[in-house]
Amino acid sequence: MSEVRLRFAPSPTGYLHVGGARTALFNWLYARKMDGKFILRIEDTDLQRSTREYEQAIMEALRWCGIDWDEGPDVGGPYGPYRQSERTRAGIYAEYAKKLIEMGRAYYTVYDKVDRKKELFRTFEYPKQYVDEGHDVTISFKVLEGKTKFYDLLKGELEFDNSTIEDFVMIKSDGFPTYNYAVVIDDHLMRITHVFRGEDHVSNTPKQIMIYKALDWEIPQFMHIPLILGFDRTPLSKRHGATSVEHFRSIGILSRGLMNYLALLGWSVGEEEIFDVRARIKQFDPSTISNKGVVFDPAKLEWVNGKHMRMMSVEELLNEFEEWIRFTGRRAPQVERDYALKVVQACREKVNTLGQLYDFAYPFFFEDYEFEEQFVTEYLLSPYAESVLKKSLETFSQLEDWTVAGTEKACRSLAELGIASKNKVFQTIRGAVTGRLVTPGLFETLSILGKKRTVERLQRALEYRSKKIHQDISPA
Ligand code: GLU
Repeated sequence: MSEVRLRFAPSPTGYLHVGGARTALFNWLYARKMDGKFILRIEDTDLQRSTREYEQAIMEALRWCGIDWDEGPDVGGPYGPYRQSERTRAGIYAEYAKKLIEMGRAYYTVYDKVDRKKELFRTFEYPKQYVDEGHDVTISFKVLEGKTKFYDLLKGELEFDNSTIEDFVMIKSDGFPTYNYAVVIDDHLMRITHVFRGEDHVSNTPKQIMIYKALDWEIPQFMHIPLILGFDRTPLSKRHGATSVEHFRSIGILSRGLMNYLALLGWSVGEEEIFDVRARIKQFDPSTISNKGVVFDPAKLEWVNGKHMRMMSVEELLNEFEEWIRFTGRRAPQVERDYALKVVQACREKVNTLGQLYDFAYPFFFEDYEFEEQFVTEYLLSPYAESVLKKSLETFSQLEDWTVAGTEKACRSLAELGIASKNKVFQTIRGAVTGRLVTPGLFETLSILGKKRTVERLQRALEYRSKKIHQDISPA
């Protein structure tokens, strides 16, 4: 069997949308499963809307997703992408347009110089004189009567009546090709065997098939995947909130979490929901992709992500966390690795994203955490708090055993003093050393913080308390 070759062909007119990432993933998975090739092609022929920034952002997002490509111009290092703009300048599309004109399957249209929308005439001869005079000239494909059929892996046989399809522009007056034309030339020249793409392209496909047929080229296997929908079951778009891969990366979704969730949107791998996509490449079967629209649920994505955060090794999670901190430009904690590992281990139990981890772990990493309002009013300013904190200071400055069992024993002995209920004592200590009422387990928290931090923080809470009380009673 000949080599299986797939491609992802984004237009660089925006950031990589999760729908695009899923399309890329399915193409990539199949190429990898079949030991074939996966190609990245930038469809940047819409000069007004395409930018190099978006192109770079899409490539960066794909790399982050772990989707790598196998061919492209040699730019020293990882392959560059193929760009349709460069291929246009190399004359690739013009060559086949000329051929189609010679065959009588395409023609020039000459437009009025003033009213640029007004068609003057059509011709098979190159209208040199008009071009020289500055008229707009396009090249259109001639649609013949009849029917156009193709087989879609998901939808089966599809048939279109050509009478519903008008002649369409292949080469615009700026010399750049249109999508429907360039895609055929490139898919053929790049020897693409399978085209998996969004369902929104179904209606483009008959036009593409006509070009394949006119040039007597082999037609690739098509599969049009139902679009990802928002909660209102309309195609997922910005109206539903942020949809770019960058966005999910920046809030702290892991690449493996996003890939797992996107794979679930359409591909049923079996009963299991949480898996490493890269470990399931061999199981990927495009024919099992659902032909129903699937709804994108950010809460489910977070849930899947949280599972991954707890499944991976703490070491790996810390590495990803550090990388994410660099990526988002947040302040990096200046702590020892062993300490950071313990913090991440304890905090990952309660969060689903790296962003949540950062917030949740903040008081472990930084000294400038704030005392939550509720802690201050309900606990810290209560009459018993002073005594609890003073006794805690005494106990923890003398404590030698900072294991979880050791801090637990110390906390219980403090509760037994009878200054306040056990809950109040524990919450006062918790709030004093972290500023918050919700943290990992109190004993574990203290054990991680260790003696120096705990003692300093109890001290700080006491000072804060007395300042606050002083403020509140002094005349305004
Ligand atoms: N540039 C097209 C898009 O971004 C590619 C569609 C295709 O895969 O043929 O939708």
